[in-house]
Amino acid sequence: MQGKVALVTGASGGIGREIAKALAKEGAYVVVNYNGSQAGADETVRQIEAAGGRAGVYQCNVSNFEESGAMISSIIKEQGSLDILVNNSGITRDNLLLKMKEEDFDSVIDINLKGTFNCIKHAARQMLKQKSGRIINISSVSGVMGNAGQANYSASKAGVIGLTKSVARELASRGITVNAVAPGFVDTKMTEVLTDEVKETAVKQIPLARFGKPEEIADMTAFLASEKAGYITGQVISVDGGMSM
Ligand code: NAP
Repeated sequence: MQGKVALVTGASGGIGREIAKALAKEGAYVVVNYNGSQAGADETVRQIEAAGGRAGVYQCNVSNFEESGAMISSIIKEQGSLDILVNNSGITRDNLLLKMKEEDFDSVIDINLKGTFNCIKHAARQMLKQKSGRIINISSVSGVMGNAGQANYSASKAGVIGLTKSVARELASRGITVNAVAPGFVDTKMTEVLTDEVKETAVKQIPLARFGKPEEIADMTAFLASEKAGYITGQVISVDGGMSM
């Protein structure tokens, strides 16, 4: 990935940080996007630079169409291209349907699904000009299988799958691949809040009988971003310990 420019949204910690590190390790210059956690984003850059890689930070709320556009324009202006886009930003606002507030549905859709659309829309113009590009969207096992208590989140992540497949069909003839990675339960801040009981029940549904590590999602994402994955597009790759088989 020498000479390539990558944007990883939501890379201030968790899975996004490991994706940013994995792309930088392959030689890409990585823009580490964050929304609220500047210290986390700075730490991601520190870890990349300590390993000999190159990176910069960019604050942007991906659910805002104009802000996402400004971020991508500024990357292209400063770095000259945008070759890899990883839409990783995501939130949960879990509750059973009857208790779920309208604003909890809206905010999850706005960040997880519309945020992904916003960044793809702005990045696609540049990738079309370049006649090349890699877009990887982080979906979820909840988007593939559904999950009680996550009507909003599952809808957003299933939406990301539909978006991935449609855009993959639109952009394929111009050398741009678009794929989704669907992680299962992964040890990050997002799953830290689950009770031990919920975690134990989850592990029982995972054939490999453990939560995944952020690095395991990052390895698949880096592969899809590489030259070696040039004949893969419109796919949803589950990295979930066998949960969805
Ligand atoms: P995490 O540690 O909570 O990280 C979420 C990231 O999203 C943070 O960097 C956060 O940035 C960013 N973010 C949130 N709102 C944003 C916004 N409006 N604009 C830009 N960035 C925003 O969670 P994670 O577990 O690493 O999750 C990463 C992705 O994997 C998400 O899409 C998640 O849905 C997906 N996933 C996770 C799991 C899991 O078990 N952990 C399973 C399946 C899928 P700030 O902190 O700076 O706001």
